[in-house]
Amino acid sequence: MVEHVVVIGAGVYGAAVAASLTRRGARVTVVDAGAPAGGTSGATFSWTNSCGKQPRPYHDLSVAGMRAHRKLAAETPGGDWYHEGGNLEWADDDTEREELRKKVAGVLDYGYEARWLSRAEALRLEPDIDPAGLPADGIAYFPREGWIEPTRLIGHLLSSAVSRGAEMVLNDPVTGLESTAGLVRAVRLASRRQLSADAVVNCAGPQAARIAELAGLVLPMRNTRGVLIYTSPVAVAVSRVIHAPNVHLRPDGAGRLLLHTRETDSAAYVSGTGEISVERSAVTRVLEAGRALYPGIRAATVESVRVGERPIPGDGLPVLGRAVDLPNFHFAVSHSGATLSVHAGDLVAAEALGEDLGEVLAPFRFERL
Ligand SMILES: Cc1cc2nc3c(=O)[nH]c(=O)nc-3n(C[C@H](O)[C@H](O)[C@H](O)COP(=O)(O)OP(=O)(O)OC[C@H]3O[C@@H](n4cnc5c(N)ncnc54)[C@H](O)[C@@H]3O)c2cc1C
Repeated sequence: MVEHVVVIGAGVYGAAVAASLTRRGARVTVVDAGAPAGGTSGATFSWTNSCGKQPRPYHDLSVAGMRAHRKLAAETPGGDWYHEGGNLEWADDDTEREELRKKVAGVLDYGYEARWLSRAEALRLEPDIDPAGLPADGIAYFPREGWIEPTRLIGHLLSSAVSRGAEMVLNDPVTGLESTAGLVRAVRLASRRQLSADAVVNCAGPQAARIAELAGLVLPMRNTRGVLIYTSPVAVAVSRVIHAPNVHLRPDGAGRLLLHTRETDSAAYVSGTGEISVERSAVTRVLEAGRALYPGIRAATVESVRVGERPIPGDGLPVLGRAVDLPNFHFAVSHSGATLSVHAGDLVAAEALGEDLGEVLAPFRFERL
């Protein structure tokens, strides 16, 4: 019988798994090499969506993830880390317009909410956009999408786990796993502390392959870096996630905005000593694109630039649930963790405690890799 579960990692996944495990009555220890939300979950665009996700089971998992956020926020006093303001997206060349058209047709076919807006309709939603930055029509609107504040969500989930008896072990990396007779028995920490375990959940995000290796398992990952630009507070009305051709942005609380583009991701580089920096000119370009779209951003300055590492399993799909050859070792690893974690973490926790989720988790098993 599973009594004590060790959760490795205190990002969105570790926090969601720990909260669900304790709610289900398990004794839980959460271990992190650093502080909660100190990994990717503290440097993410955190857009909640299933916008073009394929194949169908991944789409459905993402929609369930969005639903789980909505429910959790609604039933939690002060659960306003979840912002379901919708997402606007448009393109400025024929190839991208065609891609967007196909994406909208695809999600509509799946029963996902999406509709086309004209410039005037989009401006009613986002009146501070410069009208010249919008096409006359062909603006896709996904009303049930939004974004989360991951650090506040993690704070809530961990606090709920601790109030049900979870122990937090921070700044103490996992350095080894003890296995005998096909089961993990204990987790070794850098401090030399050893935690006995009836089950272990790998929520180590971009380091998940390293933890799997300690268990003798090979988890192929193809992580990528992303650059996020946080502005100073600025008096401009941005209420939604915006995917414009030259900039992606969303509010980030207290008047700050978060800006991103795919192109800027390649402006992050690692020095010989392992320090990560970002080319200044790339940051300026993104800020200029933001200012061109929302002239009210003109006064904003860059308050911080963060580089996050996307934890991406080899085929791009989540890895969830138990390992067949080590059945008390479980994975909760994916990109899109901001969208998925509350729901997927709950599924992983249920399976770790013995529920049969064979069918639900089948498309996301480690063994497919
Ligand atoms: C630029 C960027 C944009 C993104 N945009 C989106 C988006 O719009 N929507 C979306 O849904 N997702 C998005 N993501 C992905 C999402 O942020 C991640 O999937 C999610 O944050 C991963 O959470 P996690 O808990 O798995 O990992 P993390 O938050 O990294 O947590 C893992 C934890 O494990 C700990 N750890 C690692 N090794 C050890 C060890 N040996 N011992 C103990 N602890 C250890 C780390 O310290 C860390 O705290 C984005 C990511 C990036 C980088």
